[in-house]
Amino acid sequence: MSFLDFFFTLKPSNLPPLEFKNTLSGNLEVFEPINGAVKMYNCGPTVYDRQHIGNMRPYVFADLIRRTLAVWGFKVKQVINITDVGHLVSDADEGEDKMEKSAKAAGRKAQDIAKEITELFFQDLDELGIERTKIEFPRATQYIDQQIALVKGLEEKGYAYKISDGMYFDTAKFPQYGKLGHIDLKGLEAGARVEENMEKRNPHDFALWKFSKTGEKRQQEWKSPWGKGFPGWHIECTAMIFEILGKQIDIHTGGVDHIPVHHNNEIAQAEALTHKQYAKYWMHNEHITIEGKKISKSLGNTVYLQQLTDKGFSPRSLRYWFLTSHYRTPANFTWEAIEGANTALRRLMTHYHEAPAGRVDQDFMQKFYTAIANDLDTPKALALVWENIKMLNKQTLAQADKVLGLLDSKQQKEMTVIPDEVQALANEREEARTAKNFARSDELRQAIEDKGFMVKDTSEGPKLSKK
Ligand code: AMP
Ligand code: ZN
Repeated sequence: MSFLDFFFTLKPSNLPPLEFKNTLSGNLEVFEPINGAVKMYNCGPTVYDRQHIGNMRPYVFADLIRRTLAVWGFKVKQVINITDVGHLVSDADEGEDKMEKSAKAAGRKAQDIAKEITELFFQDLDELGIERTKIEFPRATQYIDQQIALVKGLEEKGYAYKISDGMYFDTAKFPQYGKLGHIDLKGLEAGARVEENMEKRNPHDFALWKFSKTGEKRQQEWKSPWGKGFPGWHIECTAMIFEILGKQIDIHTGGVDHIPVHHNNEIAQAEALTHKQYAKYWMHNEHITIEGKKISKSLGNTVYLQQLTDKGFSPRSLRYWFLTSHYRTPANFTWEAIEGANTALRRLMTHYHEAPAGRVDQDFMQKFYTAIANDLDTPKALALVWENIKMLNKQTLAQADKVLGLLDSKQQKEMTVIPDEVQALANEREEARTAKNFARSDELRQAIEDKGFMVKDTSEGPKLSKK
């Protein structure tokens, strides 16, 4: 690589101002960090059960933000929390603790489940090309003292009160309550999200600390000045943010479901304590549906990343598919869509593999960065790649990939070696086998072998490899 190439790869000179849509103002805003390194917090998984493909969208989205900020020359400190206690079945602080409930059902230790699910989560992050080593992952149970200290602070300032099942935040004392997303509080009250607890002063008041029920021995409980119990889900995030990132952060993200309750609660308790703006930019991803339906255990339609890889798709085909829609647009998962994304990704890798070396194409990158600078318009950025694919050299594709994160050397090896024509022969053979036309299927096996490949029938379907 020449010195010039190295220089351009390191710090592009053609970067337009980066604009993000801020949920707080509802507007596109030019990104300017508060001070120094960008501090970003992404609400993380509740580790009572494996995260499904919908849950992976916020982390790919957060990774896209971090990669983009890095290309724009910002230093980033990123935190994704692991919720291993306190997230109740209803976000409105009613019902059982998800961790305790799943531990009880499985007859296992809550911490064992948390550990196992966190490991699976990390595996999924790695497979999706999320740069995990650049992220901190604090566990809520490791920050109990800090959470108690925040509740004490709120009590001293007159924002917290005690009722029979816990310590609650008095939302009437925080007049801007509901400012994120301009929540229609009356509408929420009428809806199902806020369930009745007659002892609460106001319907939106939320739990800061919950007491263990009398006569009940919880697996995870701690002493506190108010009684034995466990922290509320919302205070966990604020305690970890204050401790690791500071009293004010630049970017706070999560799925849109977090806007009405969880994130408004975080703002209320944090700003009541500091009288400073808690997070400067709030960004939320829209939800993924599966075959047109909400992803839900009760519908039995949940899909996990591993199911994609079991079917022979590259895990990054999910990342590719996410990037084909804008993060603020709902997207509907179908197996055909993943097949399409997998094929497109394979072609992209082949192009990259075969592309000649050269200098980074600055005209192309200018257009690419302009799309990304417009609130991370990845569908536009990907379309630009495909429109120009024949002209793009290796260095230009690699430069674009610093943002996209699609080219993976390990998966690339597996994927680029199987040409389309061999895949087509394998598909035809599978059809012949299904139709019990074994003579034809043997012929096709031979044709595949003549091209230097082998087909092996496994319980997950036929697998192709080099001879
Ligand atoms: P949870 O483990 O339920 O707290 O969810 C982890 C993350 O996934 C949160 O940021 C949620 O907002 C987000 N999320 C939940 N369901 C979906 C979905 N269907 N599509 C996209 N994001 C989701
Ligand atoms: Zn959170």
